[in-house]
Amino acid sequence: MESFGHVIDGEEVPSLDGATFESIDPWERAPWATVALGSAADAHRAVDAARRAFDEGPWSRLGHVERGRILHRLADLIEERGAELALADTTDMGKPIAETRGHDVPRSAQNFRFFADHARLTPAEVFPMPTGHHAYTQYDPAGVVAAIAPWNFPLMMETWKVAPALAWGNTVVLKPAEQSPASATILARLALEAGVPPGVLNVVHGYGPRSVGEALTASPLVDRITFTGESGTGRAISRAAAQNLTPVSLELGGKGANIVFADADLAQAVDWSIKAIYTNSGQVCLAGSRLYVQESILDEFLARFTAAAAALRAGDPKHPDTQIGPLSSREHFDKVVGYLDIAEQEGGQLLTSGAPDGWSVPPTVVVGAPQRARVTQEEIFGPVVVVLPFTDEKEAVDLANDTPYGLNAMMFTRDLARAHRVSRALRVGTVWTNCFFVRDLRAPFGGAKNSGVGREGGSYSREFFTEPKAVVMEIDER
Ligand code: NAD
Repeated sequence: MESFGHVIDGEEVPSLDGATFESIDPWERAPWATVALGSAADAHRAVDAARRAFDEGPWSRLGHVERGRILHRLADLIEERGAELALADTTDMGKPIAETRGHDVPRSAQNFRFFADHARLTPAEVFPMPTGHHAYTQYDPAGVVAAIAPWNFPLMMETWKVAPALAWGNTVVLKPAEQSPASATILARLALEAGVPPGVLNVVHGYGPRSVGEALTASPLVDRITFTGESGTGRAISRAAAQNLTPVSLELGGKGANIVFADADLAQAVDWSIKAIYTNSGQVCLAGSRLYVQESILDEFLARFTAAAAALRAGDPKHPDTQIGPLSSREHFDKVVGYLDIAEQEGGQLLTSGAPDGWSVPPTVVVGAPQRARVTQEEIFGPVVVVLPFTDEKEAVDLANDTPYGLNAMMFTRDLARAHRVSRALRVGTVWTNCFFVRDLRAPFGGAKNSGVGREGGSYSREFFTEPKAVVMEIDER
């Protein structure tokens, strides 16, 4: 068994009361690591350390070049220790190692490089005034950031929050999800090795409600809360944050619409649509879990799509060829399997090439479930796609917009004018045309409706993780 502690004020420490929990490997269905189980007292200890490190410096007062040098060193260490980090996430939550090693770890290093450079290179505004004054914007670090992360992209989501917060001079208390704690402790160890001063990046493990998560969101010493997780949890966090009027950034759930028009390049549409729902066994906020296919091509599309789904290699996520691993936990497996029953009760037919086994669910296609069915409206967060036909563009847009979520949508078409028209009409944070999952870290990322509040990425992260201050000076005495 491996062992992972909290990292507080530069030390890897056990909980104040000595409590621990076991992290379960969902493929072996057995514990693989012992992890410190924090309580509110451990959260407060970490917030105090982050507060001291922020107020006393030097991190918050370093220039962008010096901070950037340390964050680039951290990115180097993430790459050097990529195999260890990838294995930690794969063992904690079952994502295929090809994805953690090939995508999540490189993107985590890139998060640090990108935000280090962005902070250094982005100019601030200057407003020469006709009154003989001169105003400019100074981006002060906000202070102590509480970062609360989900289990589906553990290291990648954590670094998406930690990197901009650190690059802009804040100190951080990170709470990883209890299902995927290991890589956060490794990240904090590497940060110390890279030269991030003690107290600047703290990690506390534990649960959300009535525990570490709640203690962080209710703390008056925390200046920003950045959260990724379920929409219901986002509501609870908003309520807690409201007591201290702490600004929150919420990246929440989704039920992504994927619209395939009859003029699409069918091979391309099938390929991306498969990736959009079955990557990480569908445990992706951006998953294309509602597939709307124009009626005239429905049969051909379905034939190709189900064949491609059946060809995916399921199995041990530590094997480099595996494309579909188990679901992240017993609890989550039960939830997804429950939705398969609901789909049938709601009139849906399951097109699938196998049966649930261990904590794995085979790639599943639901046809015949109506638009208002729970399986079409609710986030299942598993390898389950609901396929529905549409007749024309207006119907496709209306169906796509008809859920409480608004994180993202995809469309496949060769008609450029239509792509622009539909992009404007969709109430979502991101629209992909003829692709999926492609990101530019300068672009805004976040959700409309129940999928989130605020945007992160590039200058949007700067707005959130700093306190933009207007400085006005008289320069021309009259
Ligand atoms: P979750 O909401 O159950 O948990 C996320 C984190 O919040 C965990 O660390 C948990 O311990 C903590 N938490 C739970 N209750 C809390 C509370 N009351 N106060 C403070 N912290 C609390 O989500 P999950 O199951 O880990 O992740 C899956 C969800 O995340 C899905 O809904 C998915 O769509 C969403 N997600 C969204 C994005 C995005 O960018 N929009 C990205 C990834 C995942």
